[in-house]
Amino acid sequence: MRVYLDNNATTIVDPHVFEQMEPFFVQKYGNPNSLHQFASDTHAPLKSAMEKIYAGIHAHKDDNVVITSCATESNNWVFKSIYFEYIITGRKNHIIISEVEHPSVIASAKFLESQGCRVTYLPINNEGLIEAQTVRDYITDKTALVSIMWANNETGAIFPIEEIGEICKEKGVLFHTDAVQAIGKLPVDVQSANIDYLTLSAHKFHGPKGVGALYMKKGKELTPLFHGGSQMGGHRSGTLNVAGIVGMGKAMEQAVDALDYEMADIREMRDDFEDKLLEIEDTFVVTPRDKRTPNTILISFRGIEGESMLWDLNRSNIAASTGSACASEDLEANSVMEAIGAAEDLAHTAIRFSLSRYTTQEELEFTLAVVKEAVTRLRGISSSYAYAPEGHESGLDAHH
Ligand code: PLP
Repeated sequence: MRVYLDNNATTIVDPHVFEQMEPFFVQKYGNPNSLHQFASDTHAPLKSAMEKIYAGIHAHKDDNVVITSCATESNNWVFKSIYFEYIITGRKNHIIISEVEHPSVIASAKFLESQGCRVTYLPINNEGLIEAQTVRDYITDKTALVSIMWANNETGAIFPIEEIGEICKEKGVLFHTDAVQAIGKLPVDVQSANIDYLTLSAHKFHGPKGVGALYMKKGKELTPLFHGGSQMGGHRSGTLNVAGIVGMGKAMEQAVDALDYEMADIREMRDDFEDKLLEIEDTFVVTPRDKRTPNTILISFRGIEGESMLWDLNRSNIAASTGSACASEDLEANSVMEAIGAAEDLAHTAIRFSLSRYTTQEELEFTLAVVKEAVTRLRGISSSYAYAPEGHESGLDAHH
């Protein structure tokens, strides 16, 4: 059996999505901007795909949804535009992000910092959550942008986007959210959440890799990142990724259709799996279940390096993640666990299991058996576990 529990990293392309994309490689391969039938063949499928994407996030027809190559591009675009519109012109000099954003947001914020912009890194609490009111405390009349992700990729923690949107609207500050981990897992409505910019990426909801989007509210246009053509209404030049857009449209439609299943059935499977994992002694999950996306578990097994656990899982054909970059010599701790303030030994022991609508009960039972075996084996050879003092301070409030 091969078990894929790394769906926050990427997902399988749904076969229906793949089927809809296929004709656009060797049959209907025209450039949509050309003036012949090959081009015209792409127009209706592109229109239909865009309608599905608009509908999936409740965008208004006058808003702009611009197709990009990935969420990394969408995130970078927002920050680079803020640089050109506000920082370089001296109009404003401050932005707010959370300290647990995806690297494409953190690194973009650091770029602005290097150009003289002040960046506030909003802290998360010991449950991995953000309190919306702290955003209000940090906003000044020099704040150009607040960028807070909808849900965190490591813990699954859901951030109070609607409340933050309300605060930004009241204060007249632009609000961007990276909703990559929310699409297909939570209801996403850009209107009711007062969002100016929203990032999404098809490969996180059973669409293809290499295609994403940036939603821009009407009247909140950004400086283009790519110049050179009239594609996407001049917002982003470059020949359209027709197959990718068609695939993302279908994937969005299916994500909306499957949302109830994700929020009820997947959640139930996740909770049951988590209950059984927590029966293993000395295990910790920090973010409460009702404040998490329904598919995600970030769990620590005291005394076991995350990478060692991954090794054992991988030998049994189970894919999971530690959420930390593995440098050549140093094993880095999970960045979110560090931000939460977990003790050094626990920050290194986090494993992320992320389910999808393709996950089966049988796969979870198999994984549980492999995890139990791995825990026994690895704790047996772990010096840190053997010598951990009684009542050892974890720095974490466990949620069982
Ligand atoms: N933002 C979040 C929250 C993510 O989880 C990811 C993917 O890991 C990205 C952005 C980057 O997505 P992409 O691979 O489309 O650039």
